[in-house]
Amino acid sequence: MSDSGSSRKVAVIAGAGPAGLTAALELLRRSDVMPIVFEADSQVGGISKTVNYRGNRMDLGGHRFFSKSDWVMRWWQEILPVAQNQIEQNQSVRISYRQQSRDWVPASAAPRSPDAVMLVRQRLSRIFYRRRFFDYPLKLNASTLGNMGFMETMRIGLSYGQAQLLRRSPEASLEDFFINRFGDRLYRTFFKDYTEKVWGVPCEEISAEWGAQRIKGLSVTKALTHALTSPFRAAGDTAQRQTETSLIERFLYPKFGPGQMWEEVARLIAQRGGAIHLGHRVVGVERDGMRITAVDVRDAATGTVRRIPCDFLISTLPVRDLAAFLQPDDPAVVRIADRLPYRDFMTAGLLLRKMLSPVGQRTASAANGMPPDNWIYIQEPDVKIGRLQVFNNWSPGLVADSDTIWLGLEYFCGEGDELWSLDDGRFLDFAAGELEKIGLIDRRDVLDGTVVRVPKAYPAYFGEYREFGHIRTYLDQFANLYPVGRNGMHRYNNQDHSMLAADAAVRSIINRGEGKSAIWGINADGEYHEAIGAVA
Ligand SMILES: Cc1cc2nc3c(=O)[nH]c(=O)nc-3n(C[C@H](O)[C@H](O)[C@H](O)COP(=O)(O)OP(=O)(O)OC[C@H]3O[C@@H](n4cnc5c(N)ncnc54)[C@H](O)[C@@H]3O)c2cc1C
Repeated sequence: MSDSGSSRKVAVIAGAGPAGLTAALELLRRSDVMPIVFEADSQVGGISKTVNYRGNRMDLGGHRFFSKSDWVMRWWQEILPVAQNQIEQNQSVRISYRQQSRDWVPASAAPRSPDAVMLVRQRLSRIFYRRRFFDYPLKLNASTLGNMGFMETMRIGLSYGQAQLLRRSPEASLEDFFINRFGDRLYRTFFKDYTEKVWGVPCEEISAEWGAQRIKGLSVTKALTHALTSPFRAAGDTAQRQTETSLIERFLYPKFGPGQMWEEVARLIAQRGGAIHLGHRVVGVERDGMRITAVDVRDAATGTVRRIPCDFLISTLPVRDLAAFLQPDDPAVVRIADRLPYRDFMTAGLLLRKMLSPVGQRTASAANGMPPDNWIYIQEPDVKIGRLQVFNNWSPGLVADSDTIWLGLEYFCGEGDELWSLDDGRFLDFAAGELEKIGLIDRRDVLDGTVVRVPKAYPAYFGEYREFGHIRTYLDQFANLYPVGRNGMHRYNNQDHSMLAADAAVRSIINRGEGKSAIWGINADGEYHEAIGAVA
């Protein structure tokens, strides 16, 4: 196979998210294989793109840049170095993501332009419940007790004690799992509604095993011990202060949001002669037995479908779509793939003049009432909103006018459901109404807004996913097919996992197929947490 008559082999890459773009750049850097990327969207970055709405930029979900992999950390920094004013020279920065952290000395590379940089940001996120702010992670301190009230705290304590005496056995569902560890009352207060909002499935229908995999290190006993012993620790205890300082979560963040990283990568790919076709959806995959021979691609602008011959296919397409394109002979593969579950996601970007502080709550960090958080988990049962992003606090570069507040109101939903199907105007109206209802804004302060829908944001681990091994075995039979990435592998990959999978695919292509199975070993424990209670 050749690229326009040359003898170079061709790798078609389906999708220009972090996985697809990493694969393209690495093929260009390390091999003679020509990558041709097809992306259905009109911009690069996948779920990690930045949406620019009239100069205000939205990050879909809030993307922290953190990786345990040195390779990924160096890779990012080569593309977007950390801005000089963010760090002292050769100073080590402790960056964290959930329960992982690492010390890291940014290289003193000069950026391509003053704006092509990463910032070191400090994380703050809280829980909003009962029209009050709670620390996140939840702490058993005076503020929490004050917010909950004495009686409610006692009820939670009693219910926890009861759960320890009368454990649910067998522990079959996620509900059993939560109640055994936190008691019924705490479960209903902080875990049930949010988990069900995220996944759209009752906790009774999610397996306990899933909770066990994801809720590492979260313990009521630990929290209680900490709360009970804290009065005995000296106020000026240096060791204690140092621990607390090291617990401050910092993360790297491109000045203009995560998409800036991927736009830079796309620029480098083009510079090296790689091709990225935006607005081109893969609509079919041709095979000869168990070998991929070509893909069919539809150009959104003209509607024409072209057949592109290839030697390799690196697919970041949802497994459901890829399997359908391959038309498997085995009916079990067809059935499982067709029913793989996903959860979708919508964001309303709202631009505001100012925000309100709930009664008795000192929340604002600015004169216009903007809270200091990067994001806030909304636990209120009377609204559908799941999380509230305050984009100003991710990076000032995301906001066109620093006197305004630029928010992202995030909703977990199902593609095609009632919420998803609302037209943009009605959805914006609904979302603004929810923030007003919980007392965070007066909707007369809304200046502008936009809506972004993210289909298949979360590959879900229930239902037919239990039989995923069957699909994997089928896909593995294609020697020149490399499924990588988040939906490409139906796994909760962060950007770094998607990149590592792409790197492993490139290595295997260079090594004539050797090491292909390593791809499935990346992020195999699925340890990935995006939301409260570590269950989303
Ligand atoms: C709410 C939320 C928060 C997150 N937070 C973080 C975080 O803090 N840190 C972090 O590192 N990661 C985070 N992630 C994960 C991150 O978004 C993903 O890991 C990353 O974007 C996955 O990259 P990918 O290339 O595998 O897939 P994607 O980003 O999904 O890219 C796949 C691409 O394929 C394209 N495509 C699909 N079908 C076709 C087709 N038929 N033809 C052509 N193109 C097609 C899509 O349009 C898309 O551009 C978060 C995700 C979510 C949903």
